[in-house]
Amino acid sequence: MKVEDLVQVAEEGARTAIEEAAIGLDALTNEQGALALIAFPNTAFGLPIAAALLGAGVSTAADARKVLDEAKRILDGKHTSVRLKELGGALNIGVAALLAEEVRCALDYASGNRPSADDGWLGFLPDEILRALGVQLVDGRIAGVAVILGTPPDAKQAVQILRECQQRRLLSCLCGQDGGKTMFAQLREAGVDAGLETLVVPLGPTSRSVIYAANFAIRAPLTYGRLSPGDWDGILKYCRERVKALCIALGAIDAEIAAIALGALALGIPIISDQDVPQIESSEVTPREALLTEKDYSRIAARAAETRDIKLDVAKVPIPVPYGSAFEGERVRREQTHVEFGGKYSKSFEYLKSVPAVEIEDGNIELHGRDIDKVEEGAALPLAIVVRVAGLRMQKVFEPILERHIHNFMNGASGVFHMGQRDINWIRISKEAYAAGFRIEHLGVILHALIHKGFGQLVDRVAVDIYTNLDDVERLLPEARAVYEERDARMAGLTDEAVEVFYSCKLCQSFAPNHVCIVKPERLGLCGAYSWLDARASHEIDPNGPNQPVGKANPLNEHLGEWQDLNDYIYINSNRTIERFCAYSIMECPETSCGCFECIVAIVPEANGFAVIPREFGGMTPTGMTFGTLAGVVGGGIQNPGFMGVAKNYLLSRKFIRAEGGIKRIVWMSKELKEAMREQLQKRAQEEGAPDLLDKIADEETAATAEELAEYLAEVGHPALEMEPLL
Ligand code: SF4
Ligand code: ZN
Repeated sequence: MKVEDLVQVAEEGARTAIEEAAIGLDALTNEQGALALIAFPNTAFGLPIAAALLGAGVSTAADARKVLDEAKRILDGKHTSVRLKELGGALNIGVAALLAEEVRCALDYASGNRPSADDGWLGFLPDEILRALGVQLVDGRIAGVAVILGTPPDAKQAVQILRECQQRRLLSCLCGQDGGKTMFAQLREAGVDAGLETLVVPLGPTSRSVIYAANFAIRAPLTYGRLSPGDWDGILKYCRERVKALCIALGAIDAEIAAIALGALALGIPIISDQDVPQIESSEVTPREALLTEKDYSRIAARAAETRDIKLDVAKVPIPVPYGSAFEGERVRREQTHVEFGGKYSKSFEYLKSVPAVEIEDGNIELHGRDIDKVEEGAALPLAIVVRVAGLRMQKVFEPILERHIHNFMNGASGVFHMGQRDINWIRISKEAYAAGFRIEHLGVILHALIHKGFGQLVDRVAVDIYTNLDDVERLLPEARAVYEERDARMAGLTDEAVEVFYSCKLCQSFAPNHVCIVKPERLGLCGAYSWLDARASHEIDPNGPNQPVGKANPLNEHLGEWQDLNDYIYINSNRTIERFCAYSIMECPETSCGCFECIVAIVPEANGFAVIPREFGGMTPTGMTFGTLAGVVGGGIQNPGFMGVAKNYLLSRKFIRAEGGIKRIVWMSKELKEAMREQLQKRAQEEGAPDLLDKIADEETAATAEELAEYLAEVGHPALEMEPLL
C-alpha cells in the first residue's frame, strides 16, 4: 500500500464519519429538538477538540451541527482558517475526522450508548483525571501515553504489550476491538488489573473511543499551556511537542481507523501498526517516524516508545518478573495468590538494622526454611525478613527509613503485593509470578538491588536473611519488637508546638495518588513506621525525596490544628483535590488515608463516639462493617469526616482527635488491641481525668452491634455519652 492509497481510504472514512454524525444528530433533533443537550460529563471544555481547534462552545445539537459543517469545509480544503500544510495537506482529513468522531462520541453519551461503565470502560475522562494525571506527566512519574487501538491475537500477547508499556511508565489507553474481542477483555482473562494506579485506562470498545484519548490530550495546552480555544495552530504545536503520546494500532486498518490515524498524526502522535502499512520514516509533525510496521508483538511497545524517546524504567533487578514503578499500585487478589505471608494469615515481620561491615557480605541472601515451591497453592507461611546493611555514612536513625522502603521496593515487582510494615506486614506472591519462576530468595534480590540504588550514598553492603519456620520467626521477633518500641520512644516528650516545621510524606502516592501524610511530633505517619524524626532524617538523606518540610506559620485555628501554609501545601500536593487539613479533628476536614493505616477510627453515631479497629481484627464491628469494608471507605486519599486511618501510637497522642474530645471519645476497641496497649492507654486516660476509661470501652465480647454498644455504654456510664453530640 502506498501513502496516497491510505490517504484516499482515510478521506472516505472521514466523510463517512461526518455523515454518520449528521444522521445521529438528525435522530436526536427529531426526538428532542435542535436544542437537545450534548455534553461530556465533568468538563469545563464542552467538546474539547471542537473547543480547542475551532473555539466552538458546544452544548446543543445545533452547536454540534455547526462543528460538522466546519469539519466538512476543513475536509474539502475550504475552511477559511484551519488549513494544515504538513504531509501534503493530508492532515486536514485527520482533523475533520477527529471533529466528526468527537460529535459521534458525544451522541453516544446523549443517547445512552456511552462505553459501558458496568463493563469497566471509562469513556470520557473528566477534567479531574486530567489534573491528577497532568502533574504526573509533568514530573515524569508517567512518561507518556500509549493509545492502544484494536486487539492482539491472544491474551498472552496482550499481557506482554501491556507489561512493556508499564515498564516504560506509559499510561495505556485501551480502545477498539476485533470481531467483538477487546484487549481489555484479554487482560481481564489473564487476571490483570485495570486502573489509574496500574496505568491501565480502558476507554471504550469502539474505534472512535480513541477520541477520549485525543480530547484528553488536547485539554493539556488549554489547561497547562494557557493557549486560547480556537488557536488551532498553537494548540497542535503544543500537543506535538509537549504531549508524549503514541499509538499502537493492532489489526486491520479500515477507512474509519485510517481517518482517525491521520487525526492522531495531526496531533503529532506516531503510529505503530502490526499490518503492512506505508512507512513514513520522518515527518514535520512527529519527532521521529510517523508511521511504521512492527509485526513482532514482543517488540511492538518498545518500538513505539522509541519513536518518543521513552526508555525502560527498570532498575537492574535480576528477578524473573518485570520490575518498575508502574507495578507498585498493582494488587494481588486472593484467587490470584500462590502464597501469602502475614496479614491475618500468619506471623510475619520485617526488620532492618545496621551492622559493622565485617559482619556481612554484600549480596548475601539466605533462605532459612521452606521455599514456596514446597507449599500448596493459596497457603500462608510465617515469614521474617531481616535486612542487615553496612556503610560508613549509615546511621541508626536512618534504619526506620530504609526499612519503610521495603514496602515500595517489593511492590515494584509485578505479581508481588506488600502491605503494612514492621510486624503487621502482609505479602502476597501471585500465581503468575510463581509460574514465571519467582521464589522467596527474589524478595531478597529486590531489596539488595533497590537499597543500593536508592540509598547508595549511605550503604555499601546489604545482606538479607529470610526465615519461613515459625520457630525462627518467633525467636527473632522480640529483638525486632524491642527496636520498634525504642524508635517510638525517641519521640516521647516532643510536641508539635516545639518544632518549626512538620514533614510531608508522599511515599504512598503510588497507591493513592492524592494522599499526603503530614508527619508531626505528636502525629506519626498513619502506617506507624514514620515518625517526625524519621521524616526529618529521610529529608536529610534525600532533600528532593518524598519527605519535605512544611512550614506552620499562619495558624488559622490552633484548636483544630489548621495552618494556612499547610493548607497551601496540601492543595498542591493532593493534585488540587484537598483544600483543608485539620490535624486534630476527625469531623472537620480530617487528614486523608492511603491504605497502610494500622487502625481505622470510625464514627458510631448511636454511641456519640468512635470505634478503633486494628488491621488484625477480622470480625464485625458496631459500625456495621468489618475492617476490610471500612478500609474501602477510608482509603484512597479522600477526606471522609468521621473516618480516619491512623497509627496505633497516635491513639496515645495528646493531639488524638483533640477537637472532638480526644481519647474519651473511644467507645469501642477490639479486645486484643485494648489488652496490648492497656498500660499506655491507661496512663493517657488518667491524664485526661478518666482513670476507669479502659473498662468502659466496649469490645467484641461486650458489644457487637451499635445497639448493644449504646446499651453497654449507658450501663457503665461512658464519658462520651455526656459529651457534645458529634452529629
Ligand atoms: Fe509515608 Fe504516610 Fe505512606 Fe507512612 S502511610 S509511608 S507516612 S505516606
Ligand atoms: Zn500508604
